[in-house]
This record gives sequence, structure tokens and C-alpha cells, in this order.
Amino acid sequence: MSLLPEEIKKDFPLLARTVRGGRPLVYLDSGATAQKPTAVLEAERAFYERHNAAPHRGAHLLAEEATEAYESARATVASFIGGTPGEIVFTKNTTEALNLVAYAMSNAATAGPEAERFRVGPGDEILVSEMEHHANLVPWQQLCRRTGATLRWFGLTDDGRLDLDDLDALLNERTRLVALTHQSNVLGTVPPIERIAERARRVGALLVLDAAQSVPHQPVDVSRLGADFLAFSGHKMLGPTGIGVLWGRRELLEAMPPFLTGGSMIEVVRMEESTFAPPPQRFEAGVPMTAQAVGLAAACDYLTGIGMDRVHAHEEALVAYTLERLGEIPGVRVVGPLTTESRGGAVSFTVDDIHPHDVGQVLDELGVAVRVGHHCAWPICRRYGIPATTRATFYLYNTLADVDSLVDGVRKAQEFFGRG
Ligand code: PMP
Repeated sequence: MSLLPEEIKKDFPLLARTVRGGRPLVYLDSGATAQKPTAVLEAERAFYERHNAAPHRGAHLLAEEATEAYESARATVASFIGGTPGEIVFTKNTTEALNLVAYAMSNAATAGPEAERFRVGPGDEILVSEMEHHANLVPWQQLCRRTGATLRWFGLTDDGRLDLDDLDALLNERTRLVALTHQSNVLGTVPPIERIAERARRVGALLVLDAAQSVPHQPVDVSRLGADFLAFSGHKMLGPTGIGVLWGRRELLEAMPPFLTGGSMIEVVRMEESTFAPPPQRFEAGVPMTAQAVGLAAACDYLTGIGMDRVHAHEEALVAYTLERLGEIPGVRVVGPLTTESRGGAVSFTVDDIHPHDVGQVLDELGVAVRVGHHCAWPICRRYGIPATTRATFYLYNTLADVDSLVDGVRKAQEFFGRG
């Protein structure tokens, strides 16, 4: 059954507000951060009002309740992606989750023999792609700088897909790790992960997926995906900011050295040296983001209640309509796949002779919130020879009428700048 976004909108208090002189808000920037349903806001508030304490510490009732709330949130998030609680590490966001793996790999140099799988050095290769968000590019560049390993990357085809012509040459016996987006935040592209996972497994490389844009928008089942690590952010999936997730296969987490060190992640501490707790605690130094974890679990419950298949199908229909409507406007060029096949709900485009910032400003004056710029994926703009794009991103609360507002706004921008 299809979604009723007008009904869903009622669950999101912010979507009822008006902007720019009383215009209804048309929010097309969920790829940057999603709006929050009342259920999430209330879950966080209830935690602070009734159970707030530092989990895993203290002998009192509140500490016990906070621990129970935090660990139960972990179980909910695990089940949302088909994993087990011991495989869920809470982080600040996707960026921190990816840095965690990159720094753990540097730290593997001085860790015990169990960390062998994570060691990299001169002659080893890390493979990424030209469509990565900076969060899944810069940490690997830095890892290469620290260790002497070499960074390589898949290029892109003219229609915004990964160019896999050189798959076998790029993904070879020297490759220690492949870090790829599971859904591009600019192009919308969903790469053929199965094929890449199969090849990575064959050559013994680890596969890390940046799932910041996939877990919020499509059903993801880590037990079938073939990845070793998956990173995503709560705030892009209706949850709070300040909470993200690193999922890792249990045996890999067991063998992986820590990134941040300090309280909560230790086993025994002496003045000379310390030993570390098993995962996931080994990777959660300090007092964790308990209320945010509770809020994220409420977001998972909300999305599960609606059904991720339906969320995905709804966005697919919105993208199909957007591609069709934008295709009717002369001078508008979509950057990315022009069909909904293997594609998510991010539509980036340029408008001839009008800078994306100007398009964004006209849209904003009409109450339509989009993002403009390079979207933290600068190499994509270089690849397609453009300075920036205007990007609309969709979620379960968007309607076909929202797309019409976008299209009307683009036409108004053309009229305003004399290009229509
Ligand atoms: N990867 C992708 C594909 C993203 O879209 C984003 C957010 N724009 C990130 C990583 C980084 O997410 P965060 O800022 O929540 O760490």
C-alpha cells in the first residue's frame, strides 16, 4: 500500500510552520538532515524527564534504567538493519564511524597479532570512488598518509554510475580495504554492492559502506549485504543529531584496536598500561549519548511501523516524477542517473546560465528548502565540470505537490534571471 505523505506530515511539528512571509514550508533537504516526528522528540524528552543518568556507572536505580534504555536502543537499531546488538557501536555520526575504522587501522601497527587484518603499509592499497562524500574520502587519504599505503578510486560514467570497467585491475591482491558509498548523496546512485563485495571477498579486502543515505531510505539487511562495516547517522533517519552507528561484523570488531581511549572502554588499568573491553564497549569511550540513542531507537520504530519498503517505493515515485518534470524545462540538466533504476531520492541539477546559489535563493524565497553547493563531494563536481549543483532530496513526508513547488520555483528563477 502506498504512503499518505499528507497524513505523515502531521507527525512532524516543524513541517507545519510557515516561512518567508507566511508561505508553507516545502522541505526538500532531508539528505542534509531529516525532520523529526513527535515520537522521537517525546522519547528523548521522556528519557531526560524520568530516567536521566550515566549508563554503565553508578549503583542507583536511575543508572540502571539509563543502562537499560541505552542497551535496548542498541538492540532496536541492530534489528532495524538485520544485525545483532554486539555489532552496533554508537558514534557521533557517520563521519566519526568512518574515522573510527581509519584510525583503528593506523593503530593496528602497534597492536597484537589479532589486528593483522587491519594493518596497512607501503605497497597496500585502499580503494574508494570518485562519488564519495568527503567523510568517506578524507579519512582514507589521511590513513594513506599515516601508513604509506596508496589510495586508488573507481571513476564515474557520464550518466553518474560507478565505472566498473577496471574492477578487476583496481580491486586486486594489494587492496586491503574498499570504502564505498551505498547511495550517493549527490547523484542518488546506488552502486552494485553485491558484485563489488564478491570481488572484495575473493581478494581478501575489507568492505566498508557509507550508508548515510541508504539506511534512512531503503531496506538494508547487513546479514545479506556482504559488507564488513557500515556507517550511518541518526539525524538523517528522523533521529536526533549527535548519534551515529558503526556496524561491524562481530569477529572483526573483536580483532579491531580502539580509536578513542579513556573511560568505559577499558578492562584493567594500571599506571604502566591498560587492557581493553570487548566490543562494542571498546569503541565507546566516555559517557555515551544516551538520550540520542533512545531517540534513534524511536526513529527506527517509527520507520519500521511504516515499512522501509514503502518508504523506498514512495521516494522512487517522487524521483520518477521529479525527473519527468525537470526534464520538461529547457536548460535544466540533471547530474546523475536519469532513471529510477538503482537510484535513491537525491536529485541534483544545474540550470543553464544561473548559478545554483541563485536558484537556491529564489526557491528559498518561495518557501522551498533545497541545498546548493558541492554537497561535501567536491570531486563529483570536478568530474562533471560544474562548480556546484542545486539538490532536492526526498523523504516519506514529501508529496508530489512539493515537487511541483520545486519545478515552479526553477521556472521562476529562469524568468527572474531572464533565461526562461
Ligand atoms: N556520507 C554521505 C553519503 C552523506 O550524505 C553524509 C552527510 N551529508 C555523510 C557521509 C556525513 O554524515 P554526517 O555529517 O552525519 O557525519
